[in-house]
Amino acid sequence: MAENERLKYIGVKELGNLAKGDFCPRCFWYEKHFGPFPSFFPGVFNVIDRNLKNSVWTRWKKEGKLPEWLKVDNVTKILTADSIGVVEKRHGQKYLVAKHKKSGLILRGAPDLILKLKDDTVHIIDFKTSQFKEEDQFFPMYEVQLNGYALLATKMKVSKLSLVYFNPTNEIPNEIFTKENFMLSFGPRIVSVEIKTGLITELLMRAKEILELKTPPSPRENCKGTCYYIEKILESF
Ligand code: SF4
Repeated sequence: MAENERLKYIGVKELGNLAKGDFCPRCFWYEKHFGPFPSFFPGVFNVIDRNLKNSVWTRWKKEGKLPEWLKVDNVTKILTADSIGVVEKRHGQKYLVAKHKKSGLILRGAPDLILKLKDDTVHIIDFKTSQFKEEDQFFPMYEVQLNGYALLATKMKVSKLSLVYFNPTNEIPNEIFTKENFMLSFGPRIVSVEIKTGLITELLMRAKEILELKTPPSPRENCKGTCYYIEKILESF
């Protein structure tokens, strides 16, 4: 992606990083100017996410109902992104987009699941293959993601936002590893997220402030990452 496109658009997930306790403005500045750092995140999570979405769609198309594990009330239809907002295609996927006037940034995101409810409002759901914890350090990031989707739904009113966490539910017995294939089961847990789209505006303004800096911001305090070693090396000259 060209640098000016990276600086023009901001994904809801990227914006979510700004809400994390350990957010580093310097990292953000580098990634938006030069592209993301290499990631060692295993691709298996993408496969699980894709299969979850497919399983919901398949069940709906075949039987007109959601799978038993997704206990959500008053659903009349599964919607595509273009039913709730303006979309742009990127790498074969449709993304909701909207320009935020004050910051000039274009917010972009693709919700996992959009459900139309009986009262003609929308319930947006995001799947997370992770263990649910009462004190989840990633929750502020997820909250921003979902509220970002709510803001991008310019054609319909969003009345509900939820996260569906998938926790592994079984201890794997050792003998299972001698088999060629084995099954892992995941137990879903649905967590409601408050609608507060105002926080998106605040974060977009903060993002703009960082991106307008001509040079990278200072390293995050107490970070012992690459910047720390670079500084040590420079000091030694
Ligand atoms: S190494 Fe630390 S200070 Fe440097 S960009 Fe990364 S997180 Fe920020």
